[in-house]
Amino acid sequence: DAGIVIVGAGQGGFQLAASLREMGFTGPVTLVGDEPGLPYQRPPLSKAYLKGEAGIEQLELRPAAFYADHAITRVEARAVGIDREERLLLLEGGASLPYAHLVLATGARNRPLPVPGRELGGVFYLRTRAEADALKAGLAGARHVVVVGAGFIGLEFAAVARALGHEVTVLEAAARPLARAVSPQMSAFFAEAHEAMGTKLRLGAGVVGLGGEGGRVTHVEATDGQAHPADLVLVGIGVTPNVELAAEAGLEVANGIVVDEELSTADPDISALGDAVAYPSVHAGAMARLESVQNAVDQARCIAARLTGKAVHYCAVPWFWSDQADLKLQIVGLSGPTDMAVLRGDPASRRFSVFRFHERRLTAIESVNRAADHMLGRRLLAGRPSLTPEEAADESFELKSLLA
Ligand code: FAD
Repeated sequence: DAGIVIVGAGQGGFQLAASLREMGFTGPVTLVGDEPGLPYQRPPLSKAYLKGEAGIEQLELRPAAFYADHAITRVEARAVGIDREERLLLLEGGASLPYAHLVLATGARNRPLPVPGRELGGVFYLRTRAEADALKAGLAGARHVVVVGAGFIGLEFAAVARALGHEVTVLEAAARPLARAVSPQMSAFFAEAHEAMGTKLRLGAGVVGLGGEGGRVTHVEATDGQAHPADLVLVGIGVTPNVELAAEAGLEVANGIVVDEELSTADPDISALGDAVAYPSVHAGAMARLESVQNAVDQARCIAARLTGKAVHYCAVPWFWSDQADLKLQIVGLSGPTDMAVLRGDPASRRFSVFRFHERRLTAIESVNRAADHMLGRRLLAGRPSLTPEEAADESFELKSLLA
């Protein structure tokens, strides 16, 4: 029996293996991953792990015994091809693994900074544990830190670097931080919060080149006309989905491996999940590709349910979190067209939410240090919430009453 083979032993691949066992699958499960060591979670890499507050044990999703106890075979190797006719996964080095069902959970990789000087020493990225370790070591001797990109990774890293006492400049080409993910109101709050931490945030500052001496970076040239001194540069300008295995096997790819509402590719023997896939989202009303733990975990559970005989359409409510210094941002719903955004609570108190509406329908809630709004929002957005902007803004209105 060829069983289920999973490519990618990250958040989603691990979850699928675990969920298959939880849901009673008794056939072989093989988890193929190209990173060394046990599957681990990425979020602490830019938070507690980088800060030195969490060790490797806290990163690992389960200890080694879990895989033995659940008969999950781990293979440390890179998959280089799929023979769909023979149903074989081809591994680097020439070995191959037969599959009855194949799941692609290949994630995404960092987008390289496309400017001269990018090969200089002192330039770092942050996706893997190996990269986090290198970054941590690099930080030890650095004074001027420049972060390229004010997205989640860039800002989380900036908060840690400030807390560790480094001088930090964040360069962002767009007009506001976190522009792809949050409302202008929330962007403004985080811009101010980082400035208050002592970080220099330069908006509308795209990077045009890196300068160096003796093979090491010394400054970053930006479209603001300045040369920003740097002995360490962290690039956080987004990721590219790992679609090559699927594309080369003739499967459709469009900003991600294309899957249907059950997360199956056009080949009924191949499914895909996580950062790598584009799926029809009921919440977006369009194809979407999300990069979050929730997305990887819920999609893994959805596929495990189908492979154990309980097929359902994937419709989980998207949610996300980001920790920056003492600010816990939680988002439920998708950042999309918004014709009205209302505040609940006062940003000055560092405890508030932004409720986003489009055509008077609630589409997303962004909360800072207000977990209750977030948790309620998850339940509200799972249905068709009747909440009005006026009710959202009125703190005496009980959100809970809508769930009754
Ligand atoms: P991954 O976890 O990336 O796993 C994919 C794995 O597949 C990788 O190990 C890769 O090496 C492997 N692989 C790829 N191709 C092959 C191949 N051909 N053969 C073998 N193996 C292969 N999300 C949140 O919701 N909240 C957060 O606070 C948050 N913080 C984050 C902080 C950092 C620093 C990073 C990098 C991400 C963060 N995320 C966060 C995002 C979250 O970690 C990802 O969305 C999630 O890991 C996606 O899971 P995945 O299984 O799709 O991909």
